[in-house]
Amino acid sequence: MRKTVTYDVVIIGAGPAGMCAALYTGRSMLNAVVLERGVPGGELLNTELVEDYPGFEHILGHELAEKFHLHAVKFGAEFKNGVHVTSVRKREDGLFDSETSEGDVYRSPAVIITAGGTPVKLGIPGELEYAGKGVSYCAICDGAFFKKQTIAVIGGGDAATEESDFLTRYAEKVYLIHRRDSLRSSKILQKRLFENPKIEVIWDTVIDRIEGDDQGLVQTLKLRNVRTSEERDLAATGVFIFVGFRPNTGIIVDHVRHDAMGYLLTDANMETSIQGLFAAGDVRSQLTRQVTTAVGDATTAAIAVEKYLKALTDGAREPEIIGTGGYSA
Ligand code: NAP
Repeated sequence: MRKTVTYDVVIIGAGPAGMCAALYTGRSMLNAVVLERGVPGGELLNTELVEDYPGFEHILGHELAEKFHLHAVKFGAEFKNGVHVTSVRKREDGLFDSETSEGDVYRSPAVIITAGGTPVKLGIPGELEYAGKGVSYCAICDGAFFKKQTIAVIGGGDAATEESDFLTRYAEKVYLIHRRDSLRSSKILQKRLFENPKIEVIWDTVIDRIEGDDQGLVQTLKLRNVRTSEERDLAATGVFIFVGFRPNTGIIVDHVRHDAMGYLLTDANMETSIQGLFAAGDVRSQLTRQVTTAVGDATTAAIAVEKYLKALTDGAREPEIIGTGGYSA
């Protein structure tokens, strides 16, 4: 049976940003719900060990996720897991309808979108199996685990080029494996790459399979030259895949301002160009995407929502009719 339920604020996605937004909306005694298509944790659940969250020298990703979740629940946040939001639409009366795949509608005057982004996957055998066990999509998060090791980076864009250079802080040797014979990355990044003696580029080559050792950790990459079809094995304990990253913004029905890559533009209060729609974490256009930046965004967004709702109640702000205003980037 389809239902329509109302809240003060609907938070979409229970990664670090969503859980932190839930904590602060809970503290503000707002009637908030977090809708999560899986279970709370987001990218933390794809991260083996976190070493850069202040106050925790080492903590497993799933343990930090559990602490975030329990902390938010303690302040009264309501989480609904396994709920897949398919669209967020602003109604003519200024309220938002967040509709789920089941056809249920969560109606609210404010929405915080914390749906994160998704690294593009290669879709090869071993990629999912060894995720967090040598396969990574985040150099800053996982680079330090590969001290003095031989690793590979896949891709030929800015991310692959820049992160190859970054990873040589830790790794003894970095192979950049690219499917063509030239990089698409900016020249300055290429210059740094080619000048780095620890990096070797393997051109015209794709990775067909990732294989592990008897402890379930990455050991061998099966490579194929796309020009000659020649196959070879590369010994590597890590493989960092940077073949693109997509923000999860497709659910927003109305036009919303975004940058060239599709990340949401916000003002300093984390409000998007649609009044009442706030964004925090990886879905937002910004310099870097870390747990610390996600929770910072979310804190601002949740407090801004509280002030926004009060302004609506006091009549200090009118509900916006779509197309009449909003933040201008
Ligand atoms: P990108 O620019 O889309 O590059 C993706 C790379 O992955 C391309 O070289 C592509 O090869 C390769 N690729 C895609 N699918 C593949 C597959 N199935 N197998 C093997 N290789 C595959 O993505 P990005 O590097 O993540 O960058 C995304 C955006 O963020 C870009 O606009 C970039 O400028 C920006 N960015 C900027 C910086 C910086 O300025 N410091 C750092 C990071 C990212 P082809 O070249 O053959 O298509």
